[in-house]
Amino acid sequence: MKVVLLSGGVGGARFARGLVDAVEPSGVTVIGNVGDDLEVFGLHVSPDLDSILYALADLNDDERGWGRADETWKALESAAELGGDAWFRLGDRDLGLHLVRTESLRRGEPLSEVTAGLAEALGIEARILPATDDRLRTWVQTEAGELEFQDWFVRRGHRDEVVGVRYEGAEGARPAPGALEALAEADLIVIAPSNPFVSIGPVLAVQEIRAAITNRRVPSVAVSPLIAGKAVKGPADRMLNRLAGGTGPAQVTSCYKGLIDALVYDESDGEVELDVQPIVTRTLMSDADARRKLAEAALSVAASASVRHSSWP
Ligand code: GDP
Ligand code: CA
Repeated sequence: MKVVLLSGGVGGARFARGLVDAVEPSGVTVIGNVGDDLEVFGLHVSPDLDSILYALADLNDDERGWGRADETWKALESAAELGGDAWFRLGDRDLGLHLVRTESLRRGEPLSEVTAGLAEALGIEARILPATDDRLRTWVQTEAGELEFQDWFVRRGHRDEVVGVRYEGAEGARPAPGALEALAEADLIVIAPSNPFVSIGPVLAVQEIRAAITNRRVPSVAVSPLIAGKAVKGPADRMLNRLAGGTGPAQVTSCYKGLIDALVYDESDGEVELDVQPIVTRTLMSDADARRKLAEAALSVAASASVRHSSWP
């Protein structure tokens, strides 16, 4: 079984962990968001790819939701004492990864190759690809003006109401090598329970990726990041309310028009009319068992005869 997963950070990484427990990991390709990549103290940080790497290597801090378990913060404390601008938190162990990535990028290696090397070093069997090796950055339009993604998300704690999102560089961005092939060979395409606007949006902004999913010949399913109309973490609910007109399964579906055949959503969100197949279950990924079961709910779409994409043979 070959599965392609589009993923952001926290929600996506948790789901990816469940997915590799439910299917043979070597059949899984995760296409990760790079719209919130940034430079911190001269180091290239890819927060969402790192969340996926750490989750699949079992090194992640599940409680914090990002970064590594057993983390310490001495380097950052020292930088702050010396007058460094330490608003973006990077732990000591985490820093090691950013050092290696940055050096490889400076040598001219593309991000996809660097990421493959990191995954291999961490013993990860699934393939992890950035959506693109090209520079693609998310900008968030707010009432306080347009802000760089991490400035809005981390520095200002995503308190500014979002009125729009822009994906700088998306126009000319090419999919990372292997992404289109993985989509062409997949038995199932899955969109993780990630933020539709700032995690999945930048992946789908790569035009050839969007076109490959639009023209798919296999089922595609999204998993809702909402439980009882609320995001488990982060601003997805507020953004859906403002940008899609509500915080229910229908609004999540509307973010993926033409791109999905089914939506897995939480039983607390009730029974609603959707123009895709609804799969209603418990979606809180509280432990390994819950994560795997949620992945299995999404995988059930591959076997389901009731889902038929019009372009299928
Ligand atoms: P980010 O890049 O780190 O912001 O992470 P993502 O965009 O991948 O994930 C954030 C989304 O994950 C939020 O909207 C959460 O509601 C969702 N999320 C986190 N944990 C869970 C969970 O256990 N179940 C579901 N359904 N969604 C979750
Ligand atoms: Ca992210």
